[in-house]
Amino acid sequence: MTPALKLCRWFARVKRPMPWRLAPSPYVCWLSEIMMQQTTYSAVLPYYERFLARFPTVEALAAADEQDVLKVWEGLGYYARARNLHKAAKAICSEGVAHWPKGSGEWAEVPGVGPYTAAALASVLDGERAPVVDGNVARVFARVWKMDDVFHKLPARQKLAARLRPLMDARGCVPGDFNQAMMELGALVCTPTNPMCGECPLKADCAARRDGEQSAYPRKAVRRELPVRKATAVVVEDGAGRVLLVENRAGGLLKGLWELPVVEPAVEQVQVFSHFRLELTALRAKTGAVFADPRAVPLSTSTRKVLTACGLL
Ligand code: SF4
Repeated sequence: MTPALKLCRWFARVKRPMPWRLAPSPYVCWLSEIMMQQTTYSAVLPYYERFLARFPTVEALAAADEQDVLKVWEGLGYYARARNLHKAAKAICSEGVAHWPKGSGEWAEVPGVGPYTAAALASVLDGERAPVVDGNVARVFARVWKMDDVFHKLPARQKLAARLRPLMDARGCVPGDFNQAMMELGALVCTPTNPMCGECPLKADCAARRDGEQSAYPRKAVRRELPVRKATAVVVEDGAGRVLLVENRAGGLLKGLWELPVVEPAVEQVQVFSHFRLELTALRAKTGAVFADPRAVPLSTSTRKVLTACGLL
């Protein structure tokens, strides 16, 4: 039996009943693919349900205010995904009704949809033979074929996609199932540590397993040490449950989110009283902050964590 058929049959047996698999449509498949980027299924599920309850159709999403979209997304991180989803919904509904992309080429034109997501959507929705290469798939086939590439760069992913495409030509291979099977295998069986090779449908094909070298693949990229930035923020309450917050109107990752005002030390002042000496540090902020209900506006992750730790959320 070909590896593709082994994968598809294994997937039919073990696939998790994800809601978008039970009733697939362009809207739910697209939404789930965007939400699942950088995130696990269990983390995504409550957000997916909440998002769909608030915006049940792409038309409802297109008509929404961006602040409402960000608020429902709050906590899931990578907020550019929510902004792009909203922007794309407007484009898809620009003629009043939804016009969905067809095929990976058109999907790749949609804001926030990269080559991986385009392939996943085209294979599931249109049956296109477009292999997906995400981190899970790269891990599985780096091990199966003992590939020395480092897969966080696009050329290595394209090379793997080219190698996977002929597998999809096997008779009886359903492209959408093949792609989902590879991702499911990486998520459930061929995990980063301690892969469960005994349960793997590709165990007879896997070179890393044969040589006992599973932990050596995929090859790791050398990580650059991240620079450290320090900041001081202030929490000011008004007694009515509102907090001094400022909306990030600049471009970039946090655009549209509300944050605590960041302050800088301005002056140190010493004053001697009869019974004590006061050492006062004054902080200064240039900000358009206003008192706002932190439950009503979309908060950046760091602000949400601070307010939760302060008992204000
Ligand atoms: S045999 Fe083991 S290492 Fe190879 S693909 Fe399967 S789970 Fe991964």
